[in-house]
Amino acid sequence: MKVFLHEMTYPEVSHKAEEDTVIVIPVGSIEQHGVHLPLGTDLFIALEISRRLAEKTGSIVAPALWVGFSEEHMAFKGTITLEGETLVRVIRDVIRSLSSHGFRKFVVVNAHGGNDAHLRSAVLDANLNLNVDVLYVGPNEISSLLPRELQRELEENIDLHAGILETSIINLIRPDLVRRDRPSKPKLTLRKPLLEALELVKDNPTLRASVLSSFLTRFDKLSDNGSLTLADPLSHWDESETEKALEELAVKLAEIVEKWKIAGRVDN
Ligand SMILES: [Zn+2]
Repeated sequence: MKVFLHEMTYPEVSHKAEEDTVIVIPVGSIEQHGVHLPLGTDLFIALEISRRLAEKTGSIVAPALWVGFSEEHMAFKGTITLEGETLVRVIRDVIRSLSSHGFRKFVVVNAHGGNDAHLRSAVLDANLNLNVDVLYVGPNEISSLLPRELQRELEENIDLHAGILETSIINLIRPDLVRRDRPSKPKLTLRKPLLEALELVKDNPTLRASVLSSFLTRFDKLSDNGSLTLADPLSHWDESETEKALEELAVKLAEIVEKWKIAGRVDN
């Protein structure tokens, strides 16, 4: 079954446009991911989740946005950033184009925290002004769909960037791109009050995410090699555990999308 828009012919797309098909838009980034993961890590992850979701729901995966808002990583070479406004406009243009062909349901799958605020604003704008329903699934939503024990491991290690989670997924889907020969334990500048604040909100994922995002400004001020985790960034779950976690995540997301799709219809 074809799921990628760029692999379809226009008659194939016309046929799907009549069926209330969901369009999944993967959004990644091109930014440093420590010394051991590729710059396109977020892109690979967004694409992988989008493909699994589309296969389970008969959706179409729109062309991925390779580049996002990565100003916070610009001190590291190879990082490319859009301005936030550009990202908002690109998403809006993609949704506007496809909505003019009859698509009404969109799911934005974003694997990069730096895109979050901009995409939420783009989604709000589309929902208000483009006569479409857009569901946003960002990094916090993705983490919340992981098995609870894995979430706990990530929380305990403040595993925010180029650490256990991302290494595990890239190790599963593109093991050839993980540099295992690089010393990768970062020196972190995490101040004690921050760690204490995190302890206070440890049972509150929403507030915890807010506290964490408030200090993710410049990664070169936080980590000497770009990774942000208390664990050895090269440590990862084994392939079968990661596969199971990704598959369960996609199944849960697909169930949500199926219900959400119906919930927006006026005749239901
Ligand atoms: Zn990432």
